[in-house]
Amino acid sequence: MDKRYDVIVIGAGPAGMTAAIYAKRAGLDVAMLEYNAPGGKMVKTFEIENYPSFININGADLSYKMFEQTQALGAEYLYGDVVDLIDGDIKTIITEDGSEYKASVVIIATGTKERLLNIPGEEKFTSKGVSYCAVCDGAFFKDKTVVVIGGGNSALEESLYLAQFVKKLYVVIRRDVFRADELVQEKVMENPKIEIIKKHIPIEILGDDKVNGIILENVDTKERVTLETDGIFPYIGADPNTSFVKDLGITDENGYILVNEEMETAIKGIYGAGDCNVKTLRQIVTATSDGAIAAQNAFHYIKG
Ligand code: NAP
Repeated sequence: MDKRYDVIVIGAGPAGMTAAIYAKRAGLDVAMLEYNAPGGKMVKTFEIENYPSFININGADLSYKMFEQTQALGAEYLYGDVVDLIDGDIKTIITEDGSEYKASVVIIATGTKERLLNIPGEEKFTSKGVSYCAVCDGAFFKDKTVVVIGGGNSALEESLYLAQFVKKLYVVIRRDVFRADELVQEKVMENPKIEIIKKHIPIEILGDDKVNGIILENVDTKERVTLETDGIFPYIGADPNTSFVKDLGITDENGYILVNEEMETAIKGIYGAGDCNVKTLRQIVTATSDGAIAAQNAFHYIKG
């Protein structure tokens, strides 16, 4: 007979790993199901300066510390890309390779995936100059020119990371204000390698075998300019990784999981935690908080 877990946590980012830590410490039989390296968005982040205890910590290091703790407590780490979640007294999770996993409680902590620009050239030049991960690919652009699209925390923080390697970096935003925190805005403005291009949107990515330029359009005048560049880093926000629950009625119109303050969804035994939830503040510290709350309530649900 298939093994049945008390709790399966889908996703091993900060929310999922914290849920696993709390559930294990409550004496439950726990597995995390993940299709990538542990850490989620955190592992792709160069520097983290707003997680208490660390003035500054590398994202991969913080990911590893959290993962180590889950392993020390004995949480199982399973590989799988979840494609379906079937409700019942015992929940069934199905992964892309057809494997089935069963658990009394499922905590969905799948985070978000980066939004695409959806412009000509983007798909063609992905990994040939277009990258969604500055930490992974930044070093390839030593002494080169790159363009970062977006004005949120991700765009500006990753711009500061890239500025260490590149000769020149353009940040292109579609309004004349940023969405990012003031502090990171100030650092970007002070960086002599970074030039801000306001009120422009990307229209087309150009290149031959790899990227060599981008066409931008002024949102007011519709005038177009071509920037020569070796790399494009779109950081224009993200969408939740929740397509596998789209028919369960537990998401909002954008696919984010609807939970109450106990991290309970409308379905008993299914919880949401972290960036994939409807919430106002998407941070590591709020993700870990969600994970702890979800696991604690999972414990009470299981123990009746
Ligand atoms: P975000 O905050 O939603 O910012 C997205 C940026 O992309 C905005 O500047 C937006 O412009 C722009 N944009 C969106 N669609 C676009 C399009 N089609 N063309 C051009 N520009 C477009 O996304 P994020 O930076 O990925 O952050 C996601 C969440 O994680 C946020 O809650 C953020 O605070 C959090 N986060 C926090 C930290 C941190 O605290 N250290 C680090 C990373 C992320 P408009 O402003 O004009 O809409």
